[in-house]
Amino acid sequence: MIEINSLEFEYRAGEFHLTMPEFAVEKGEKVAVIGPSGSGKTTLLNLVAGILTPRKGSVAVGNTVVSGLSDQARRDFRITNVGFVFQDFALLDYLNVMDNILHPYRITGALKLTGEIRERAAMLAREMGIGDKLRRQSTDLSHGEKQRAAICRALLPHPRVILADEATGNLDPGNKIRILELLFESVEKHDATLLAVTHDHELLPHFDRVADFQAFQGQAAQGGQAP
Ligand code: ADP
Ligand code: MG
Repeated sequence: MIEINSLEFEYRAGEFHLTMPEFAVEKGEKVAVIGPSGSGKTTLLNLVAGILTPRKGSVAVGNTVVSGLSDQARRDFRITNVGFVFQDFALLDYLNVMDNILHPYRITGALKLTGEIRERAAMLAREMGIGDKLRRQSTDLSHGEKQRAAICRALLPHPRVILADEATGNLDPGNKIRILELLFESVEKHDATLLAVTHDHELLPHFDRVADFQAFQGQAAQGGQAP
């Protein structure tokens, strides 16, 4: 489902250089991405989502070579196929929780906002434990609530690929497992693929596989197995 080949990337400003000869995630696979801070985990998710484009090589999601699309096509592809839970959530301050969750439906013609979608959004929010906060301004949420709102927004369109950047960081242990289970449930129900950055080593056994980022900066880019 995700296939990276001969990838080379660097930021225009700065020293950071990422080389990934080969990295593949199968359809339906749930992969944890680990590695030290600054090793390029967020950069990888941005490359898969088509937010960044490589200098060399290719990034494919399904049959689409994302790295070969125009800016507009990459954006549409991302909104319809990729659910991204950003490390800093990227909620819109001027919108309430419900409107944040529905936002992807308002910025592309490819997603249709119907009554059914609104109901699904409310149900998802209830499952995430923020069902009573839908009218609350997103600035007036706790850290954990913002995180859960961001997860709802990412899951609502039933994306084929879910990218989660430390989506369970800063949550209490009970919520952490619950959120992870919801992510996994959504992945399984919709035959999606999950790539999740985490620092939480106790969560690793829940994943199918662990990709250790340190390996990507060397030669081979095959992740190790989960403990
Ligand atoms: P991680 O998520 O593993 O902590 P990142 O992918 O965020 O790491 O960053 C990898 C490296 O790239 C870091 O050294 C970071 O400082 C650098 N970096 C991240 N974003 C930018 C940017 N927009 N411009 C220049 N350098 C960046
Ligand atoms: Mg990061």
